[in-house]
Amino acid sequence: MNRKERRKAKVKCSRCGERVSVIAAVGWNATVKQGRVIGHLCPSCQTPEENAEAEINLATTTYGVDAFGRHVGFPKVEEPEPVLVCCDRCGTSTTSDLAPEWVLGLDDGQIVATVCPGCLTESEHLAVEVNDAMTELARVTPEEGFVVKPKAGEEP
Ligand SMILES: [Zn+2]
Ligand SMILES: [Zn+2]
Repeated sequence: MNRKERRKAKVKCSRCGERVSVIAAVGWNATVKQGRVIGHLCPSCQTPEENAEAEINLATTTYGVDAFGRHVGFPKVEEPEPVLVCCDRCGTSTTSDLAPEWVLGLDDGQIVATVCPGCLTESEHLAVEVNDAMTELARVTPEEGFVVKPKAGEEP
């Protein structure tokens, strides 16, 4: 199928039989079963429940047209889960993506404490600035939590 033919591809409403071109099918709802699109519903044929289901499908499925012009749904690639971090002093917890101001107590590159901004003392704040200048938070992974590595170019 060439590009011109693909543009003329139509979708048909499984309920009322209305047909529109794929590019005009805005607001249409693909009926998905086990990751495959088995039918379509035009906006006026969708029940409120189906509409809600479409929202969920939109959030979890990516739609496209395969090499044969068929409508297909792919599971969306999942974003890495934020890591839960907990303040060692006050017990406040948050997730890693919401904790840019949080401080890690470091001892020889090992994390010995996690402290929220509200629990940080003045002297710790200074120590943190020194740490920041010498190390960088490489990445936060669900498996390993915080990973700290020396800054590049600082090796003796
Ligand atoms: Zn319809
Ligand atoms: Zn705290």
